[in-house]
Amino acid sequence: MGNPNGFLEIERSLPGDRDPIERLEDWKEVHLEMPEGDTQAQASRCMDCGTPFCHAGDSVHLTSIAGCPINNLIPEWNDLVYRGRWKEALDRLLKTNNFPEFTGRVCPAPCEGSCVLGINAPPVAIKHNEVSIIDRAFEMGWVKPEPPAKRTGKTVAVVGSGPAGLACAAQLNKAGHLVTVYERADRAGGLLMYGIPNMKLEKEVVERRVNLLAEEGVEFVCNVEIGNDIPASRLRDDYDAVVICTGATVPRDLPVEGRSLKGVHFAMEYLGANTKSLLDSEHWDGNYISAAGKNVVVIGGGDTGTDCVGTALRHACKDVRQLEIMPGPSEGRMASNPWPQYPRVLKTDYGQQEAIAKQGEDPRTYLVMTKKFIGDEKGQVKALQVVDVEWERNPEGRPVPSEVPGSEREIPADLVLLAMGFLGPEGGILDQLGVDKDARSNVKADYGKYATNIDGVFAAGDARRGQSLIVWAINEGRGAARAVDKHLMGVSYLPL
Ligand SMILES: Cc1cc2nc3c(=O)[nH]c(=O)nc-3n(C[C@H](O)[C@H](O)[C@H](O)COP(=O)(O)OP(=O)(O)OC[C@H]3O[C@@H](n4cnc5c(N)ncnc54)[C@H](O)[C@@H]3O)c2cc1C
Ligand code: SF4
Repeated sequence: MGNPNGFLEIERSLPGDRDPIERLEDWKEVHLEMPEGDTQAQASRCMDCGTPFCHAGDSVHLTSIAGCPINNLIPEWNDLVYRGRWKEALDRLLKTNNFPEFTGRVCPAPCEGSCVLGINAPPVAIKHNEVSIIDRAFEMGWVKPEPPAKRTGKTVAVVGSGPAGLACAAQLNKAGHLVTVYERADRAGGLLMYGIPNMKLEKEVVERRVNLLAEEGVEFVCNVEIGNDIPASRLRDDYDAVVICTGATVPRDLPVEGRSLKGVHFAMEYLGANTKSLLDSEHWDGNYISAAGKNVVVIGGGDTGTDCVGTALRHACKDVRQLEIMPGPSEGRMASNPWPQYPRVLKTDYGQQEAIAKQGEDPRTYLVMTKKFIGDEKGQVKALQVVDVEWERNPEGRPVPSEVPGSEREIPADLVLLAMGFLGPEGGILDQLGVDKDARSNVKADYGKYATNIDGVFAAGDARRGQSLIVWAINEGRGAARAVDKHLMGVSYLPL
């Protein structure tokens, strides 16, 4: 801890974002950069706590996760950043995180929610410090391919190239195993590539990491769906181990009247095609669902919904609204959500900020339920019938929505995007392998062990834990790699 008064003398500040109206003209990242000295000053706010809750992961016995799920050595690299010892900060950061350029950009930062300084002051800008270290490292040429010194002769197939598959492949390759990553999309990266839009995470950043892994010896086979193009059983014959990292890609539907009308889509149909068309042709090929000139309604108030709002605004939609059936979060922490739990508070994220700047008001409406989609004579959606709701407990004690009498109304909509979360992994490969599922239809494999009921078959990331976060996918990919390494070699020296 270089500056014992840092947290008293310096206020939290962040680099800020580009002007919301200007940034709607392009697909580049919304964040600006901060001068080096200012970042060092921010790092000096860290108090080097005796018990640094920021990096505690899930080890705190609370109903909610607290701290960094990959146990980043946050106070150590904060201090090194403050002292300008960036290369050593990088070494510390890479000990626990394979991909800080992803988490430093788009992690919701549970570390900051648990920062001790956050009890009575704004927390340390941990996420900004993280991305500053890794971005500087790439600029300085410090991040180089590091192939393993020797190979074990063992082979592993990783199915799915999202953050769980990439982290698992990176670690197994470090241990000397020959890893092949199968991906059904045309580009590797999973939701880093075709879920999170470019303005949140530029795709050059994802490609740069995939290329590094390839240079280190990981083989990527894209455009191949396991269970369809290649039978899953062949992987068991051809490889010493298989890791399922296929994500939780089954979207939650809204099976109300009019669901089959033209213009009603799942969010991922909209977001995925948009990024692919952007990367393939800067949208010249027209192979995406355009919101241009349309009234857009996004159903779902979470981050996927926000990404739809930001994308629709960049398409120059006429208007965009975001509907959520649940109540809006409170402005500050509730008594039931104390520090160091992740704060469940109202965030006005980039998409909402842009909608406010463009349309003059927050696009979100809470406590509203869609009753049906109304179409025109050509079968194209033209409106939603919605009603306000209140939440009450049923006789079994479960909260259920009840309609507010007289609140029914129509909202015009030419494009409706369903962003209501995901139910679990798809069946194909799991059924072919005979892998057991848990009560939530995720792959059944204990956390920390990652082994399924089939010998030599492991699972990690959203496919195992359900819809989650990049940082959890990295945690699970690393953990599964260690479990596979142990399975193959009898002992593993890979860190968790
Ligand atoms: C729109 C959106 C925005 C998000 N924003 C954030 C955010 O800002 N911050 C954050 O922390 N988290 C965010 N998340 C969540 C995060 O992206 C996921 O938790 C994370 O990507 C899960 O990683 P994964 O590797 O388990 O699976 P995924 O990233 O889903 O990757 C799974 C991959 O497996 C492939 N696959 C599936 N089946 C097969 C098969 N049979 N054969 C070959 N390949 C197959 C899929 O094509 C996919 O590429 C977001 C999610 C969405 C949908
Ligand atoms: S909890 Fe906050 S102040 Fe304490 S070590 Fe972590 S980042 Fe620094």
